[in-house]
Amino acid sequence: MSNVHELNFLKEKIEGLKNDGVYRELPVLETASQAEVILNGKKVINLSSNNYLGFANHPRLKKAAIEAVEKYGAGTGAVRTIIGNMDIHENLEALLAKFKKDEAAFLYQSAFNCNAGTIQAVTEAGDIIISDELNHASIIDGCRLSKASKGVYKHSDMDSLEAVLKDARDKYKNILIITDGVFSMDGDIAKLPEIVSLAEKYEALTYVDDSHGSGVLGESGRGTIDHFGLHGRVDFSMGCLSKGIGVMGGYVSGSKAMYDWLSHRARPVLFSTSLPPAVIGAVTEAITMLMESTEYTDRLWDNAKYWKSKIGSLGFNTGHSETPITPVIIGDEAKTMEFSRKLLENGVFVSGIVFPTVPRGTGRVRCMVTAEHTKEQLDRAVAVFEKVGKEMNILK
Ligand SMILES: *Cc1c(COP(=O)(O)O)cnc(C)c1O
Repeated sequence: MSNVHELNFLKEKIEGLKNDGVYRELPVLETASQAEVILNGKKVINLSSNNYLGFANHPRLKKAAIEAVEKYGAGTGAVRTIIGNMDIHENLEALLAKFKKDEAAFLYQSAFNCNAGTIQAVTEAGDIIISDELNHASIIDGCRLSKASKGVYKHSDMDSLEAVLKDARDKYKNILIITDGVFSMDGDIAKLPEIVSLAEKYEALTYVDDSHGSGVLGESGRGTIDHFGLHGRVDFSMGCLSKGIGVMGGYVSGSKAMYDWLSHRARPVLFSTSLPPAVIGAVTEAITMLMESTEYTDRLWDNAKYWKSKIGSLGFNTGHSETPITPVIIGDEAKTMEFSRKLLENGVFVSGIVFPTVPRGTGRVRCMVTAEHTKEQLDRAVAVFEKVGKEMNILK
């Protein structure tokens, strides 16, 4: 007799993953997230984290987290709208608004939550959301939660965006254009000046998910909007606190009206407990450090340029990245995964990314250098790329 608790419907799907060759175990990290780590029991150079500034294990952030725990405890005990809104949450929002040069910033538990909560709160039936085709999964999910209609334009193709805008303008009330600031698979930057001009021409609103621009682009990591000098011309400027900033959380900055409305309608904030004191303490310290000095972003960019030039001059195809995200494009899916596996055997962890995350035939390993890597570590990793690249006939 079959037992419903055996979850056979899931076991069949898992068999399907195995037959397709895409079943995998999660790698296990046994150290802090840093430049060199112990992964699955082996010491490796880490080129796969989003910890751009090396803040995840930074002594100043850890100290601030511990101090916040000592004063405010381990958890907040409630959602913000009941009694989980501490003075440290409010102070962090004020600091983020100042950092981003906006009127207000509204904090969420993650960038994913920020997209899930904000997009549905600021759109409704009769509106349309227009999205770049390569936008992140959390934007796609956020759009699904909205009752607005949806449109898509070809990646960074302004003619395609304008065609969708032209068609939509008279049919809908509000139009919201959403784009990633930095696209995570290729490391290219959205054409924000053109997007903002088109938005103004068609009286559309704009929303930028700057998860990979936060702590990376602009003065001291203020993001893509600062990079292009577009302050005041993007309505919803979403920032991430879990990648470059090294901890956890997300926020959207913009106007006071935006803040007021979200504090009444952002469902992840209304119905899920607020970020704990340790996170708020550490993030506040991180933003303070960025406002004091550009040394962290300077070091990140110095390392990123060093890595790109070394890897590029070996003859690898690094695509059209404009940021520290450096894809090394191998092409064939199986070959890409083998390349990643051989790099790991030789002490370098770089995750392989293949279809369906990227188009078929464009498999790549995605290298993410951080401010924390030393030149010596980068040189060692370059030597491994050269050795494995030659062994596999990727390099001549
Ligand atoms: C990583 C990422 C997110 C989610 O960030 P979390 O803070 O980890 O939830 C959202 N959008 C983009 C574009 C991302 O790359």
